[in-house]
Amino acid sequence: MSTLLVRHIKTLVQAETQLRSVVKGSEMADLPLLHDAYLLAKDGLIEAFGPMSECPASADTVLDATGRMVFPGWCDSHTHIVFAASREEEFVSRIRGLSYEEIARQGGGILNSARRLQAASEDQLYEDAWQRLQEVIGYGTAAIEIKSGYGLSLESELKMLRVIRRLKAVSPIPIKATFLGAHAVPAEYKERREDYIRLIINEMLPAVVAENLADYCDVFCDQGFFTVEETGQILQAAARFGLKAKIHANELGYTGGVQAGIAAGAISVDHLEYTGEAEIDALQKSDTLPTLLPSCAFFLGIPYAPARRMIDAGLPVVLATDFNPGSSPSGRMSLVVALACIKMKMLPEEAIQAATLNGARAMELEKTHGSIARGKAASFFITRPMPSLAYLPYAFGTDLVDTIVLNGRVWEGPNSNKKS
Ligand SMILES: [Zn+2]
Repeated sequence: MSTLLVRHIKTLVQAETQLRSVVKGSEMADLPLLHDAYLLAKDGLIEAFGPMSECPASADTVLDATGRMVFPGWCDSHTHIVFAASREEEFVSRIRGLSYEEIARQGGGILNSARRLQAASEDQLYEDAWQRLQEVIGYGTAAIEIKSGYGLSLESELKMLRVIRRLKAVSPIPIKATFLGAHAVPAEYKERREDYIRLIINEMLPAVVAENLADYCDVFCDQGFFTVEETGQILQAAARFGLKAKIHANELGYTGGVQAGIAAGAISVDHLEYTGEAEIDALQKSDTLPTLLPSCAFFLGIPYAPARRMIDAGLPVVLATDFNPGSSPSGRMSLVVALACIKMKMLPEEAIQAATLNGARAMELEKTHGSIARGKAASFFITRPMPSLAYLPYAFGTDLVDTIVLNGRVWEGPNSNKKS
């Protein structure tokens, strides 16, 4: 039995006495805060919290948080952190004037990552992804989703998903795995794309499910990638195998991807840079979460998703990093929160809810993560001294995450808190 006590917390953020599973619309601005508070963890879980006047006298570990705030760990529900190489040469091509789609047509983009991944060993991919996982834990992330999708062949997709399984086995934070065989059509299938769809449905999905390698199935439903009809076929097949959908939609145009995800009962539809009334209307009538990835819009210079209109329409907006080598080479959730405020006009309170509780819901982890609540995982971070909550997105270039606690233990960098 071990206990950890944080005392004199200036503000305990997202402290729930009434458990919520998701926060929608106008409720998003109503972030539960407790000032001058304590937080007690016991055996890895949150045991109690409350005003300092009720603080317990002692614990095995005691941390003082005078002038500092405590946040539940970020919940990053959309990443691609298993990859073989960075792609800064394409970044320079874009500076010189090529678009993301032009680069993709010339064999760059996802197909470039796929070639490099196919050549990489499972062990090397695992080592690199482990380092990225440590990096994002250091930014305060306490739950994460990771996708395949740079394999694009049976063997390489399985290799990626096995890397994610190895990460899951030792990670101090929960990981959800998503099968994204339909990330792009490989070059050799360009003239016979229906054969690639068949490969996904008849060979990849059964193999992924036989090894229990995925929690979700994703499709990049967008112009130049997979059509609404192809997306429907793949997601229906995934559903027959018991895999729920989480899809990429409406990043490059009004393609019907949002509606295709909703029709398949997707947990979330992600990206949504191109969202109009029809998409908002469809989301309002569903339980599918809209997940926005502003660091991708920032990096690619594409329009930002209309978060303000979504929230005003009563939707439960989610924020995630989309950490990947092509369109968002950053896994820093604090930056995503800042961009949501600066570029999408979300209030700091709304952005924090979107990056914690709603992110947890987008991974079906809302019962254990996403807020400070009794019985949830004691996985949170203590900030550097901050004058106010809004200071976090305002000081967007400052690393304000100071001390990280995972499952009731202080995290001291790579390999600390590693499951044995
Ligand atoms: Zn993505």
